[in-house]
Amino acid sequence: MGLALTVLPRAGRSGGPPQAPPISPRRGERRLVDSHGRTIRDLRLSITDRCNFRCVYCMEPDVRFLPREGLLTVDELIRVARACVSLGAQKIRITGGEPAVRPELPEIIAGVAALGVADVALTTNGSIMDARTLAAWREAGLTRITISIDSLDPGAFARVTRSRTTPRDVIDGVRRAVAMGFHPVKLNAVIVRGLNEDQVVPLAALARDLGVEMRYIEFMPLDSAHAWDRSRVVPAAEIAAAIDRVYPLVPLGRHDVSSTALDYAFADGAPGGGRIGLIAPVTRPFCGACSRLRITADGKVRPCLFSTREWDLRPLLRDGCGDTEIEDFLLDATWTKQAGHGISAAGFEQPARPMSAIGG
Ligand code: SAM
Ligand code: SF4
Repeated sequence: MGLALTVLPRAGRSGGPPQAPPISPRRGERRLVDSHGRTIRDLRLSITDRCNFRCVYCMEPDVRFLPREGLLTVDELIRVARACVSLGAQKIRITGGEPAVRPELPEIIAGVAALGVADVALTTNGSIMDARTLAAWREAGLTRITISIDSLDPGAFARVTRSRTTPRDVIDGVRRAVAMGFHPVKLNAVIVRGLNEDQVVPLAALARDLGVEMRYIEFMPLDSAHAWDRSRVVPAAEIAAAIDRVYPLVPLGRHDVSSTALDYAFADGAPGGGRIGLIAPVTRPFCGACSRLRITADGKVRPCLFSTREWDLRPLLRDGCGDTEIEDFLLDATWTKQAGHGISAAGFEQPARPMSAIGG
């Protein structure tokens, strides 16, 4: 399946016409706004599509990665992030693929942190979180980490991630991150029917034990195998009910209107702290309040996870364009953000790129 692009040619300085979005009618406001009345405050910056895991819901073992020269350089990544900040982005989450496999990660964190945004976060699979690495991230200016852990059972963890990392390795890294003062540290688990739904309650117990938020994510049609099927989605309501039977929950709602997660506290206060978050894009879509914009590792502006249209910023970055041109491109691309993901609509088409190539 190819990417369907609506192409308006814009003169390129190094041959072939780069693809450009139509001009936003609200460009002059110099704020990232879309045509559905939403404002972008949250940038997801993917720094690589590579990964040392092959999670079954994300990446097939024979996945093909982008050529290295196709990835944005550190300077290019920081330049795009700076442009987004000047247009109103307040949070930047560095992601991938697995961001920790890119050797320049500390440099990228430092560059992003220097932009002065309130919030610099990282999403990682937790496989590379030794004390030295964590200290380097901390020193570079990282404050928040979200770590994936889909199972506490070593056999099941290996089946899900198809890696040699163990749940113990990840948990040790989480403890180190908490001890080092990263705050908040959150955990992510994608729950897939028939794969790891038996882990819902053990993972809640882990959140209580570690005093962190455990976030359960509904399986989305973003797997490179294109094997997603609604029957494999475990609805967030079912996850909440399973936890509530063992550890009664108190609903807290969304932290802010554009948050992806519905938050819950443990009714007993949980001696070690800890919380639950449910991310329900399939059964309770939150597109109406979306404040996110994604930049892929190869420099495409992707207004929505489920965009079938993305806009290639890399030629501008490499053609010597000025900051205003880069900003205009971002403003125009943002304007094209679709109203919603449409997973439940008739004729829904899974995007060609998997989650790992978009940036989760
Ligand atoms: N490699 C890092 C990790 O796994 O945390 C960061 C990138 S990963 C693409 C970001 C998040 O997307 C992870 O929490 C992962 O579990 C989630 N994810 C990947 N594929 C997904 C899918 N098909 N449905 C829902 N979430 C998915
Ligand atoms: Fe890698 Fe993260 Fe995708 Fe798993 S979810 S394969 S860790 S990018």
